[in-house]
Amino acid sequence: MAPRVGVLDLQGDVAEHVEALQRAGAETFRIKRVEQLADLDGLVIPGGESTAIGKLMTRYGFMDAIPREARRGMGVYGTCAGLILVATEIDGSSQPRLGLIDMVAKRNAFGRQRESFEIDLDLPELGKEPVRAVFIRAPYVGSVGPGVRVLARVGEKIVMASAGKHLVTAFHPELTEDPRVHRYFLDLLGKS
Ligand code: GLN
Repeated sequence: MAPRVGVLDLQGDVAEHVEALQRAGAETFRIKRVEQLADLDGLVIPGGESTAIGKLMTRYGFMDAIPREARRGMGVYGTCAGLILVATEIDGSSQPRLGLIDMVAKRNAFGRQRESFEIDLDLPELGKEPVRAVFIRAPYVGSVGPGVRVLARVGEKIVMASAGKHLVTAFHPELTEDPRVHRYFLDLLGKS
């Protein structure tokens, strides 16, 4: 059976993730209310503005509901702003976060000159062909705790990591045609 995966539909690039998840083989749902989380295998938190998404998540009860569903077994994949929201710590900020992956997120951390850029990223875990990675005012992961797997770096900067069924990327695989990163998330969801 196809995994049931929701995309948090409060702000950000929701439609692109829905399409990418469908290409990867998931049954998809747009999630606007906490009740809709009940039967999901996975949830994507899209890119956008982490402070705006975080405020809306607090207002609509997602800050409590998502960690509760994660304890039940739901996996969460955060891209870009979503990466920031999944972290336990956000460097220099007290904005709300879910604390699902033991790591420090650094916001807008590639600097002004590199507001957005694209690179070919070596991701041995996904095969020989590099992944075309699109970064937009991207964060990176400064450091990770035990139990967190680092999957890709740009120089020294961690840009993809996983812990259990949870995944984060600093880049936006939903903006390319390559389904491998979303498929990787679906594979994580299938593991017990
Ligand atoms: N810089 C944004 C933030 O801090 C993230 C950018 C993005 O999601 N494309 O929320």
